Amino acid sequence: MDYSNLTNTYRELEATTKRLEKTEIISELLKKTKEKELNQIIYLLQGKAFPKWDERKTGMSSRLVLKAINSATGISTTDLEKEWVKKGDLGNVVEEQIKKVKQTSLFKTKLTIDKVFKNIQKLAELEGKGTVTKKIQYIIELLTSAEPEESKYIIRTVIEDLRIGVKDGVIKDSIAKAFSKEPIQIEKAYNLTNDFAEVAMAAKNNKLSDLKMQVGKPINPMLAIKVENIEEGFKAVGMPAQAEYKLDGFRLQIHKNNSEINLFTRKLENVTKQFEEILLIIKSNIKLKKCILDAELVGYSPKTNKYLPFQHISQRVRRKYNIEAMAKEVPVEINVFDIMCKGETSLLDLSQEKRREILEEIIIEEKHKIILTNKIITENKKELEKFYKESLKKGNEGVMIKSTDSNYVPGRRVGGWVKLKPIQETLDLVITGAEWGEGKRANWLSSLTISCKEGDEFLEIGKVGTGIREKENEEGLSFSQITKELEPLIISKKGKEVKLEPKLILEIAYEEIQNSNNYNSKYALRFPRVLKIRNDLSLNDVDDLERVEKIYKKQRKI
Ligand code: AMP
Repeated sequence: MDYSNLTNTYRELEATTKRLEKTEIISELLKKTKEKELNQIIYLLQGKAFPKWDERKTGMSSRLVLKAINSATGISTTDLEKEWVKKGDLGNVVEEQIKKVKQTSLFKTKLTIDKVFKNIQKLAELEGKGTVTKKIQYIIELLTSAEPEESKYIIRTVIEDLRIGVKDGVIKDSIAKAFSKEPIQIEKAYNLTNDFAEVAMAAKNNKLSDLKMQVGKPINPMLAIKVENIEEGFKAVGMPAQAEYKLDGFRLQIHKNNSEINLFTRKLENVTKQFEEILLIIKSNIKLKKCILDAELVGYSPKTNKYLPFQHISQRVRRKYNIEAMAKEVPVEINVFDIMCKGETSLLDLSQEKRREILEEIIIEEKHKIILTNKIITENKKELEKFYKESLKKGNEGVMIKSTDSNYVPGRRVGGWVKLKPIQETLDLVITGAEWGEGKRANWLSSLTISCKEGDEFLEIGKVGTGIREKENEEGLSFSQITKELEPLIISKKGKEVKLEPKLILEIAYEEIQNSNNYNSKYALRFPRVLKIRNDLSLNDVDDLERVEKIYKKQRKI
């Protein structure tokens, strides 16, 4: 199929924000797609060339892409950069430039979906030295045959920012509609495979029920709903309930297939290389040859033997070098809490109680290597209260309360599990800087630098963009509203960044306060979120460094 068929669809998708219309557009395309191209089209609609869990990425920075556009069009990178700042979207820049160049070009071979897909896949498959030139060459090859509009989408796909407003939910509904299935069937199949291409193919051939969880491919982890207190917890999961420590590490899905072991994060990133030191433990301390386990990986200090907060191992997740040294600096303990697959058998439909029983039979516990998550089964409020306090005292985040007869439901917050954590205090912080956005946000100040007070000074503690709405008419604070408030406060500009007179105060929620070298307060907020503008406060009311430190210490039980 010609690539233009897909770019026509992209254009139509970009032109509407309505989910139903998007579903209609995609399902029409899927209906007329031949089986052999279904794979490619599904991936390209998601702006990718691989399933979500696949480690391969195109690995092209915007800078490299600029170079490729420069080689394909002859326009200098400085001029391209200027246009880029103006438009906030490299795709639009290339479209316009190719329009100019194309008038003089003589050759034109029609681009096919297959060609675009394969070249983009090749970008991801090239690794190591000397590959940059080859990668650029693959892009140039596409750009020289591309129509202006095609070039726009090629570049956006290469930089992994397609901007057609197609999220997983739309793909799910479109596959359901195209092949006359219920969306829930598609969702279930997706939660087991994390590959819409595989799901679409199965749906087309009426083989959805044949799709199985496979050791080596991550499934979407089961999620928990938040509760405010113990009564709510019991109410949600029934009695007796299984309570476990809620550890402050990161979720790890362990796939063991004899000596082949793969480790995935909650977002399905493959982190096997980063945690090589635990592979031996998995080989020796798990009695099954083949299984999928759910666990929390927790860092501890080799000096004090105490658990360390998440931020310490968070550095290990993305580490590509010095992995061994890091493993010594922040060793980790595997805390296993569930089992989803034993040999060839799925355990998803077994009860929590049964799955835990199996787990207890197959793990050889060894402190600081692998243990089962601490748990109690209780119907007594006081006992659970005591367990919760004990967990917090040990530096954990809180407790998970699980229904003893709940199945393992991948990817959904269905209520079989709930989480209980102390309510986080909010901070009142002032905006001292911002950055002009890109794409849809091009005319808005979108990444806001927030600061706390220290004497007469303001010290930066993070950047926030979450909690602000893109649309005006929705409830809550919008980007255009905040931009209007901030524009008169601009003191200086540098590229896309602006410095602002400290005036506008925001109430900020966050998950946690961490140490950080990125900001001059030496602290950073994890997952900050704007709650509201605090026009009722003055600069005197902005929270000071002392309060930040106090919350930090309280949180760490220092
Ligand atoms: P939250 O990130 O607040 O939505 O809480 C869910 C996360 O808590 C899970 O994704 C796990 O990474 C983590 N967690 C810690 N301890 C447990 C446990 N015992 N059972 C399940 N999840 C846990």
